[in-house]
Amino acid sequence: MEFINREAVERIASRIGKPVKVDRATMTGDRGRYARVCVEVDLTKPLLSQYKVEGRTYYIHFKGLHNICTECGKYGHSVKSCHLLFKPSPPPS
Ligand SMILES: [Zn+2]
Repeated sequence: MEFINREAVERIASRIGKPVKVDRATMTGDRGRYARVCVEVDLTKPLLSQYKVEGRTYYIHFKGLHNICTECGKYGHSVKSCHLLFKPSPPPS
């Protein structure tokens, strides 16, 4: 088990969006390897899926947002219909 300090959690949260609240169990270290933070995010911008702090990569999971594309990081479509993977076919000539 590792303890994620509050400073690192707040640093990651502020990279995701506007931190609203840090879970009480996260602050006391009760949540172990997980930190739970309430963050206000701008869904028109790509969401961060991982963040590196001091050489260590932390993976970010967005609870309550199910339609996030893992390819471009945007909300509103799945990777199956991502415009980055499937470019529209050229119009018939
Ligand atoms: Zn996409």
